[in-house]
Amino acid sequence: MTQVNVTPIKKVLIANRGEIACRIIRTLKKLDIDSVALYSDADKTSQHVSLADEAVYIGPSPAAESYLCADKIIAAAKRTGANAIHPGYGFLSENSNFARTCDENGIIFIGPPTSAIDAMGSKAAAKDIMEKAEVPLVPGYHEEDQSDARLLEEAKKIGFPVLLKAALGGGGKGMRLVESAEEFQENLDSCKREAIASFGDDFMLIEKYINEPRHVEIQVFCDQLGNGVYLFERDCSIQRRHQKVIEEAPAPGLSEELRKTMGDTAVRAAKSINYVGAGTFEFLMDADGSFYFMEMNTRLQVEHPVTEKITGQDLVEWQIRAAEGHPLPCEQSELTRNGHAIEVRIYAETPENEFLPSTGKIQYLRTPEENDHVRIDSGVVQGDEVSVYYDPMIAKLIVWDKTRSGAIHRMDKALQEYCVDGVNTNTEFLSNINSNADFINGKLSTHFIEHHNESLLALDKPINDIHFIYAALYQHLQSGLSNASNVALDQQSPWSNVQGWTMNSTANRSFRFTFEDEINHVSLAFNANTITASCNDTTINCEAYLDGDKLTVITEQAQQLYVNQVESLITLFIQGKAYKVTAYSAEYASGDDDNNGQLTAPMNGRIVDVFVKTGESVELDQPLAILEAMKMEHTIRAPAAGIISEVFYSPGDLIDDGAPLLAFEAEDEE
Ligand code: ADP
Repeated sequence: MTQVNVTPIKKVLIANRGEIACRIIRTLKKLDIDSVALYSDADKTSQHVSLADEAVYIGPSPAAESYLCADKIIAAAKRTGANAIHPGYGFLSENSNFARTCDENGIIFIGPPTSAIDAMGSKAAAKDIMEKAEVPLVPGYHEEDQSDARLLEEAKKIGFPVLLKAALGGGGKGMRLVESAEEFQENLDSCKREAIASFGDDFMLIEKYINEPRHVEIQVFCDQLGNGVYLFERDCSIQRRHQKVIEEAPAPGLSEELRKTMGDTAVRAAKSINYVGAGTFEFLMDADGSFYFMEMNTRLQVEHPVTEKITGQDLVEWQIRAAEGHPLPCEQSELTRNGHAIEVRIYAETPENEFLPSTGKIQYLRTPEENDHVRIDSGVVQGDEVSVYYDPMIAKLIVWDKTRSGAIHRMDKALQEYCVDGVNTNTEFLSNINSNADFINGKLSTHFIEHHNESLLALDKPINDIHFIYAALYQHLQSGLSNASNVALDQQSPWSNVQGWTMNSTANRSFRFTFEDEINHVSLAFNANTITASCNDTTINCEAYLDGDKLTVITEQAQQLYVNQVESLITLFIQGKAYKVTAYSAEYASGDDDNNGQLTAPMNGRIVDVFVKTGESVELDQPLAILEAMKMEHTIRAPAAGIISEVFYSPGDLIDDGAPLLAFEAEDEE
């Protein structure tokens, strides 16, 4: 048996960021190994930095100037005394030069030997090796002769449709589907151009295009002593533009026999390249259960948590132990599967708008409670920025249950409880997939999203009267005016700074919201504990309670929702859907108040316009002036009918929060 010296890992530098850096740090803490984070300008206050024991600045925000700079990363490891580097996924994780530089500097690279990375780095070379290890390949061509004529001839031999693939491609780039010989040349030219631009090499493979395949991958693990096991499979068929969106383990409907065949094949293939550590063999699977090798990923996968959930193993711990030189913690026969796990990738993006990344500040973040059934691998907290520099994935939501249908149900609930405001997310799109009948029935294929595109993108949410009523109830409860006689003034309202008016009657309150240029009035009438709320043609009698951001409205049933307000924009999260309502102007109180005194500026700003003169009489709610603050215009309105006794400011003037803007005398009410 091979003898391997064990080198204890004492301090690990994580050459990555975001959720995966946080994930790795979690295991390091568990193992009592010190952690060093790296950060660029954009990541100064990121979660992975605050979680790590130490953090080193490595440069400007673009990854090419920070997270991809091998020399800076090695220098940081040396400076902090880290004796190992975990590369996570992406960035330098599959860069053999980086792994080699680590070796040369006496730093343990937590990953496979450079020879294995090199062997799998090119899809063409990898296929040669797999062929020798008797791993089934998609019928195709991956030889040296790259002349146009030969490539066309081979494509014809394989039979159209075929897929052109750049040997060095990845992330869905450098691939073209070619339907016929006539379209071949044009596609070859454009695929080569893309390959040169993205990977600096245009060596092409041709593969038979498998119709409606599933993507099933096997997780393998090897130690330095030559042992290898597989930790079962993951189904990653739910993809968009060849990028995984939902992953699950085990693969629905896979027979035990096929599972074992695929697993044994993958372990045999891994051993053939003297693999060490975590690796994934990706296969395409035909409707008849035939499977074909596609590629091997020589790193930890984004979707590793579903494997952890069904096996009860910590794959990062396995990686560290393998890198130290320990034998695998168990044999194949000791590994068992338990239940079903599903992972969704939550992205800051706008599905309705071509899935464009949505950057900005996460103003509000409410996540489901984590427990044995729900796991969240995230790199952000409320208040963090989603920057333009990195992948906009903000979290992975993983659920587990005894059965697949149980897991789907858990996911449904968890997605409903995942509320984000400030940036858009794909959570509603993910919910639509999770509740799709074909998904529920395990009818999976890599074309699932294309096939169901229309229903998955049906994200329209009609705003109706009840939403305005909820928004009004929120504003009312939030203002503190809900405690009948002892009035605390509304923090959100410009009237909070109105001096001279005491609003001690809450018998009736009115609120207004704009929607598609219409103003919607909501009136709330209070009667002991009940509120009669009316908006347009809708009237409800309810009780309403606010606990932080959680609003409960009780009619015959209790409706629970979460609410976030940013300036005049109110977002209502109802069963996983976000409804946005705009408060038109300040709430105003009616009743027999003494509305005399001075109207003051609700915040620092600039007077844009003043509509009234001294001595003018005004109606309730009449616009008096416009104040611009925080890039938004706020209309200051008459809180009651009355007379303007003095105007203190003119357009263009700057005004301080709380300064008197005009003096006002309310009309005596009968
Ligand atoms: P990348 O390295 O860019 O991720 P892969 O070779 O792993 O590219 O393929 C990505 C996805 O493209 C697969 O998951 C599958 O959906 C699709 N695909 C790849 N090869 C084929 C094929 N021969 N037939 C049909 N679909 C394929």
